[in-house]
Amino acid sequence: MTSVAERIASSATASTAHSLATTTCDTDLAEPTWVFDALPTYGPGASVADPIPAETPNATRRPGQLPLAYQKMSEEELHARIVAAKEAMGDRLVILGHYYQRDEIVAYADFVGDSFQLANAALTRPDAEAIVFCGVHFMAETADILAREDQHVILPNLAAGCSMADMADEESVEAAWEELAEVYGFDPAQEIDAGWFERNPGVKLPVIPVTYMNSNAALKAFCGRHGGIVCTSSNARTVLEWAFERGERVLFFPDQHLGRNTAKAMGVPLTQMPMWNPRKDLGGNTEADLDAARVILWHGFCSVHKRFTTAQIDAARAAHPDVQVVVHPECPMPVVDAADAAGSTELIRRFVADAAPGSTIAIGTEVNMVNRLAAQHPDKTIFCLDPVICPCSTMYRIHPGYLAWTLDGLVQGEWRNEIHVDPDVATHARIALERMLAAAPQPLTGGAR
Ligand code: SF4
Repeated sequence: MTSVAERIASSATASTAHSLATTTCDTDLAEPTWVFDALPTYGPGASVADPIPAETPNATRRPGQLPLAYQKMSEEELHARIVAAKEAMGDRLVILGHYYQRDEIVAYADFVGDSFQLANAALTRPDAEAIVFCGVHFMAETADILAREDQHVILPNLAAGCSMADMADEESVEAAWEELAEVYGFDPAQEIDAGWFERNPGVKLPVIPVTYMNSNAALKAFCGRHGGIVCTSSNARTVLEWAFERGERVLFFPDQHLGRNTAKAMGVPLTQMPMWNPRKDLGGNTEADLDAARVILWHGFCSVHKRFTTAQIDAARAAHPDVQVVVHPECPMPVVDAADAAGSTELIRRFVADAAPGSTIAIGTEVNMVNRLAAQHPDKTIFCLDPVICPCSTMYRIHPGYLAWTLDGLVQGEWRNEIHVDPDVATHARIALERMLAAAPQPLTGGAR
């Protein structure tokens, strides 16, 4: 079994002669899969040696418990088992693969896309009683929230979490809400139900909670209960416009960078975007800061995307004067400002597809996606901005061994690693998701295979 570093390095070499990547960001990722998966140092699921947020020490998913027999299987045997199980299950099974998954997993996916596209894609397969989500925990939760009651959502490895999602937990957000309620003078327990805005036209709430899709189900439910909404990286601007029509300001979590980049593009000054640090009173702000605030940014980030820097962009421009730089809005603001374009994974995919043959494109997002785009467009020079190979290490935890084990379970009538969101949480989370869909209808654009 080759390490992730070897696989990515060989993929990068094959797909682009101009790749700058030569080393990995984390030596742990050079370990064989099962050694890596059992590492006691596993933090909240981040890439690099990301510290577990002090306020959420228990948010970390337990490492997977894959039976030894599956750990010992050859690639050929795992492949044969996955193919046989897919055949046996037929239309009763749909496999979803996130853009950031390794190629050995994407090869088996019926749909490839971002988290929300994939959750929606599952709805197009009404006969599927099993939805196997090859992504991370919050994605499987969203699929379960949107799925029918008789559908089962499976996450092949329960250790596949998301460090960004773990950075905002329900307790810290509830505590922040109570502090904000005191500052702004509202009842923190007031429920703003699904029809509240229609029944109270023109009334503006003091603060609207907005959660990025990359958050746990309890926070989506929190937004559902308090007049809030969910956003994706594709619709963040439309969602903020929706929120500003209904509230004086926004509490945006967990990703500070998506919030800041989006609000800045809408003309909100940085001085009106205080950061909320959950470990400090009033998030580390004064009442005056909060009075003036338009967007209160939670102190969260994606450890994969925060690695991108303006120095990398300068180096890419120096090496390739005609290069176009496109980055994800989870990158820090100076990087987004220095890029030629910034947007969701779907925007990046289209940016590359629409570029003229012969174009040179440097991309600031997860390396598995970059390498796949490079392989799909051999007429263009495509490379990752980061000279260090840094995949999302929790996505990496979905290995064909886990996929084979969960699929074998389905054939035997066992639901292994099922993700089941509490019905009350799901009901409220659905309200926040439905507000998003009403504000920003999203066509299904993830690729079916
Ligand atoms: S790339 Fe970042 S936001 Fe996405 S799953 Fe990995 S850690 Fe979470």
